[in-house]
Amino acid sequence: MGRPANGGVITIAGAGPAEPAAAITLARAGRSVVVHEAHPTVGFRLQRNVQSLENRGTERHVLSVLADLGITTDFDRLPCREGQVFDAWDRACAVRSREPLYSMVERGPDWGNLDSALPVQARMLGVEVRFNSALEQLA
Ligand SMILES: Cc1cc2nc3c(=O)[nH]c(=O)nc-3n(C[C@H](O)[C@H](O)[C@H](O)COP(=O)(O)OP(=O)(O)OC[C@H]3O[C@@H](n4cnc5c(N)ncnc54)[C@H](O)[C@@H]3O)c2cc1C
Repeated sequence: MGRPANGGVITIAGAGPAEPAAAITLARAGRSVVVHEAHPTVGFRLQRNVQSLENRGTERHVLSVLADLGITTDFDRLPCREGQVFDAWDRACAVRSREPLYSMVERGPDWGNLDSALPVQARMLGVEVRFNSALEQLA
């Protein structure tokens, strides 16, 4: 992320999940933000890869935490409430929870997934997202 040197505009490199999430937070704080993505679409690196959003470091479901931060949770996901975990000796233990333990999400450029939803929310807050725009260096 660059310093706001261009008339207060903040420059962000990349349109993976982390960068639009930062842009959303900055835009909510009243900052002007431009996101530059080197590739022609979001999710170029992890096309159709299925990943899990886990409740790391909190007992609350990660989606509730995101919602509290003002980050959209309006993307396709599959909440998982049970499964098997393995200890250091490879012994399996069944786990089950009323609240989701994690949510499976698809990465990539397809409409409705995590990577697509975040730039949509960012744009609605006035963030400019430029594709095919690789930053050589940060201002
Ligand atoms: C195989 C695999 C499986 C994974 N599984 C999980 C999982 O299950 N759960 C989990 O939480 N995490 C998982 N991860 C990690 C997760 O993918 C990353 O933590 C996450 O994608 C990081 O988001 P990001 O926005 O920081 O970076 P990225 O998603 O990598 O996005 C960075 C973006 O920046 C762009 N960019 C880079 N440099 C520039 C530049 N100079 N100018 C313009 N644009 C630029 C890139 O093109 C890219 O689109 C996995 C990773 C891999 C590789």
